[in-house]
Amino acid sequence: MFKKLPIIDDKNPLIRTKSEDVKLPLSDEDKALALDMLEYIKESQKEEIQKQYDIRAGVGLSAIQIGVAKRIIAIYFEEDGKTYEYLMANPIVTSISVKPTFLGSGEACLSVPKDVEGFVYRHQKITVKFFDILKGEQRVEKVSGFLSIVFQHEIDHLEGILYYDRINKKNPFQRIPDAIEL
Ligand SMILES: [Zn+2]
Repeated sequence: MFKKLPIIDDKNPLIRTKSEDVKLPLSDEDKALALDMLEYIKESQKEEIQKQYDIRAGVGLSAIQIGVAKRIIAIYFEEDGKTYEYLMANPIVTSISVKPTFLGSGEACLSVPKDVEGFVYRHQKITVKFFDILKGEQRVEKVSGFLSIVFQHEIDHLEGILYYDRINKKNPFQRIPDAIEL
């Protein structure tokens, strides 16, 4: 059964909160919250759910977006016939590529009702250490491309950072040499 989560927007000061590490192993309450977040993201991609519940489609969600300052992130999307599904706690970026990447159409966020235009430069590749909530174990994974952008967008939320903070205010569509446009 779909649970419409109370997503807060960027007018709510809570969105700027720095989230705290989650205690491991996860409590039943934290695990239930994480699973609800993943379910929400998955379901949000179905047109009938968007219409029925008046929600937007998303590919990632951080707990702070529902007002919970815990380092929990859910990611789900399909790309080129492959499914990317992550439910993680306490992610730490352990290495980054120098090469930047960005979405040519810009980023969007479930907590930002009106899209802010401009390029958001991210690292093309990052290595992330996290607790995999679905598998119940610590993992290290190297991610690249769109997935890397989604990871960085969501990890930013844990620090209270929104994607538009990273847009050059004076020149939102500034081109950086060598950056890979997606
Ligand atoms: Zn967001």
